[in-house]
Order: sequence, then C-alpha cells, then structure tokens
Amino acid sequence: MHDILLLTRAFAFAADKHTGQRRKGENAEPYVNHLAEVAHLLSQAVTGGDANLIAAGLLHDTLEDTETTWDELARVFNEDIAALVHEVTDDKTLPKLERKRLQIVHAPHKTPRAKMLKLADKTSNLRGIVASPPAGWPLQRRLEYVAWGRDVAAGLRGVHAWLEAQFDEAAEAADRALAGRD
Ligand code: ZN
Repeated sequence: MHDILLLTRAFAFAADKHTGQRRKGENAEPYVNHLAEVAHLLSQAVTGGDANLIAAGLLHDTLEDTETTWDELARVFNEDIAALVHEVTDDKTLPKLERKRLQIVHAPHKTPRAKMLKLADKTSNLRGIVASPPAGWPLQRRLEYVAWGRDVAAGLRGVHAWLEAQFDEAAEAADRALAGRD
C-alpha cells in the first residue's frame, strides 16, 4: 500500500474506532489528539521513513481501548502493523496494578520499533500530565504516574536518542509543574 494511503487510512480508522473517547485530562481532549501526537513524534524520529511504525503509532491503542482485533489490523493494514500494536498492548484480563508492573518488566524485551512506539506514547502521556492534568488526581498520584513512566522508559532506552531526549524533556517539565515551579 502506498505510504500516504496507508497513513490516511490508519488515521481515519483510528478516529472512527476511538469515536467519543476522550483523554482523562481536565481539558478532555479528543482521544485522537494523543494518537496524532504519538504518530508525529515517531514520524520525526524516523524522518518519515517507516510508514508501518507511524501507522502503528496512530493505531497503538485500538486493541486495548476499542473493539478492534489483531486479525482486523492484519487484514486492513498488514501483519507488521498488527504485531507492533500487539506488542504495546496490555493484557486487559489482568488487574490494573499488575498491568502497570508488567509494563516495567516487559519493556526491555520489546523489539526496537515497539520500544520507540512505547517511548513516544509515554512522552505524550507525560506532556498531558502538564498540559491537562486529570482533575481528580491528587499530587501524590501525579508524582507516582511520572515515576512509573520513568521506570517503564528505563527499559526502552538504547534504541533512539532523540526520542529519549523528548521523553526526558517531558518528564522534567512534569517534575517542574508538579513542584509548582511552572
Ligand atoms: Zn497511548
């Protein structure tokens, strides 16, 4: 499939699947904002050169948060994209705390491109904590979230220095914001 067709199809597919979903921040941004941010980070990281990875960035939450199946991703897109999305998908049959713990444990064992995708995802999430903090979250919960993000990211390092720098910047901005210095 032509790259531009692949990417616009992925964007349309993700927007459709996530219809009505919003980010949990106080601004309740449409969910697709997060997908666009992750895909754009990846696009910059690979200077547009890995269309499957960028498409997987757009689709990365479809297995976890919508009714989409692996087969559907493989059929509509391709198996490489389906496998990438699967690699960054939590096992939703497990309790939330266990899923968060496993993200830390599994991070170092992911394939390099899945590590890049996960790092872009974590970067977007930490930026969100600063730009639009979840209203019901006390300071302690926000601090724990940033610390957890760092623990996951620690296992994603060594693949792409620029993405790591984006993550570090987002984490430091979150530290400053949570310390009341922004
Ligand atoms: Zn995400």
